[in-house]
Amino acid sequence: MFHRIGIILGVFLGLLAASCGRNYEIFQTTRPLMGTAVGMAVVSQDARRAYAALDAAFDEMARLEAMMSVFRKDSELNRLNEEASRHPVTVSEELFQVIELSLHISQITHGAFDITVGPLMNLWPFYKNEKTLPSSEALQEVLSRVGYRHLVVSSKDRSVFFAISGMALDLGGIAKGFAIDRAVRVLKGYGMAAALVNAGGDIFAYGSKPDGQPWRVGLQHPRDSKQLLAVLTMSDMAMVTSGDYERYFLVDGERYSHIIDPRSGFSARETASVTVMAESAAYADGLATGIMVLGAEAGMPLVESLPGVHALIITEGSKKALELHVSKGFPLLLDEASLAAQGVQLKALER
Ligand code: ADP
Ligand code: MG
Repeated sequence: MFHRIGIILGVFLGLLAASCGRNYEIFQTTRPLMGTAVGMAVVSQDARRAYAALDAAFDEMARLEAMMSVFRKDSELNRLNEEASRHPVTVSEELFQVIELSLHISQITHGAFDITVGPLMNLWPFYKNEKTLPSSEALQEVLSRVGYRHLVVSSKDRSVFFAISGMALDLGGIAKGFAIDRAVRVLKGYGMAAALVNAGGDIFAYGSKPDGQPWRVGLQHPRDSKQLLAVLTMSDMAMVTSGDYERYFLVDGERYSHIIDPRSGFSARETASVTVMAESAAYADGLATGIMVLGAEAGMPLVESLPGVHALIITEGSKKALELHVSKGFPLLLDEASLAAQGVQLKALER
């Protein structure tokens, strides 16, 4: 996850050297958060203010992680999971917002993105050391407790209720994106002229670097972590990637990725990686996870139908050759010759 999309650090490290009074400079910090390395860079004229902004933005992400992580025993999410089968539970504004956005993404992806995958995540050995596959009886039982349509929310009292007892929410597919958006909001609140927040390759960038150039990010090759597929520039948008290559386990040579098709209960197999650009990181995060399940054939028409959303979907064709599917607005300058040298084939590039 650390290197999924490597930020080209060198690009701005050099700029740090020159430090004279009122010039705009880049200030940056990295901290471990949300199971990954989170790096933030801001453009400011004032070092003290810049570091205060960075501190506050990291604190905000840590606060949201403590609220929404299933790995924290005392998180608000785990409290909700324990109680909401019995009665409606009123939740914090942030948690409610993430749940509402998740339901919206469930609707537009026809259930491919679904935060009620909690029982499935607990059944498959993602969170366990022993990697054994579940029986089909266990899978059927668990599937009966999965489905966003059984999630009852009321905006009147910000309450959440599980219509089927034993349901559980897992926000792993969207909370990181939401936290990135909130970090950006904090940085803007501190008056930072430009910033880039990079949570293990999930990115939001706004403004431009002190030299006026846009932020540059590299797209990692999904089958070779040392290789970059391409470099692209971005401003005032989020770019989030989901892939089958960062977190998975193998049984008898079969790859089981941590993204589950909520309809079958099995790992998504359609797609190697999905990179989504959108105006918010939360939206991009949820869509990327959902499109991993949908695959390119159903996912690309969805992307083209959503205003302000662009995507790069990578699938594995015959003989494991990679195929790139690029939406019309995805700002990727692809060099077909160098991609071919990497064994990658372009598909549906209508430009
Ligand atoms: P990453 O965690 O690498 O950023 P994703 O954003 O794709 O990757 O999130 C994967 C996580 O989303 C899983 O670990 C799990 O918590 C959750 N999840 C798995 N399948 C689904 C699904 N179909 N819909 C919503 N969330 C899912
Ligand atoms: Mg996601």
